[in-house]
Amino acid sequence: MNFHLSGRWALVCAASRGLGKACARSLVAEGVNVVITARDAAVLERTADELRAIDPDVTVRTAVGDITTEAGRADALAACPQVDILVNNAGGPPPGDFRAWSREQWITALDANMLTPIALIKATVDAMAERGFGRIVNITSGAVKAPIATLGLSNGARSGLTGFVAGLARQPKLAGRDVTINNLLPGAFDTDRLRSATQAAADAEGRPLELVLADRSRAIPAQRFGNADEFGAFCAFLCSTQASYLTGQNILLDGGAYGGTF
Ligand code: NAD
Repeated sequence: MNFHLSGRWALVCAASRGLGKACARSLVAEGVNVVITARDAAVLERTADELRAIDPDVTVRTAVGDITTEAGRADALAACPQVDILVNNAGGPPPGDFRAWSREQWITALDANMLTPIALIKATVDAMAERGFGRIVNITSGAVKAPIATLGLSNGARSGLTGFVAGLARQPKLAGRDVTINNLLPGAFDTDRLRSATQAAADAEGRPLELVLADRSRAIPAQRFGNADEFGAFCAFLCSTQASYLTGQNILLDGGAYGGTF
């Protein structure tokens, strides 16, 4: 299937590794020029080289910085001549007990997982509508549908973004101009983040990482973790011209882990 995205520009945030990188990879494979962001310049440049190798005709630019800061967002936007596609992503907040969280920790989580995507949407969405094409994909979490008790900062901040997007995506001046906004909700994907979070659990239980990973993956109906390429491919489809009638949705990619009918 041809997604008809060749020559478009995408800003893919937090994309030197993991799910963001996989989204950038799938978009580049569709002929989309990308700006990728991350805080570590060396890792980001390595990723950019990998992306360039996929298609030498595609332009890959980097913007080094923390996307949760105003300066980081300004640099990312400045590097992208025109944002046709915006993939919002940032690191997730740490686990813990809400009794220990300070106001500052809440503000950090809200900045990363709610206010940053909203700021980037605000900076790009009206120009998308004027041009008559735009795709916004927010990487959130399965925890929005099935909250994880220890991830209260994530449950709260991402649900705030989800509620905001539900209202915005349905505005006729966006949906009626072929601008779609959707949220992709990862379940358990085999990325650095999954491994570091599971390592913490393994240390706490005094068990080897591989055994804890095996137990976790057996609890998923698919009997495995997702791989990032599956996630990236779905993101590219959401950005396609074919997905024009799909907006305001929360799409769970979790190998069947969520137990509800809807
Ligand atoms: P990852 O740690 O493998 O990769 C995160 C990427 O984001 C890296 O490139 C990192 O450099 C970049 N990054 C992080 N914070 C940044 C910031 N402030 N500014 C710029 N770049 C930043 O993580 P992942 O597994 O790809 O997860 C991506 C998102 O999806 C996270 O918010 C995570 O909480 C969420 N999520 C992941 C899973 C999973 O199973 N992997 C499940 C649910 C939710």
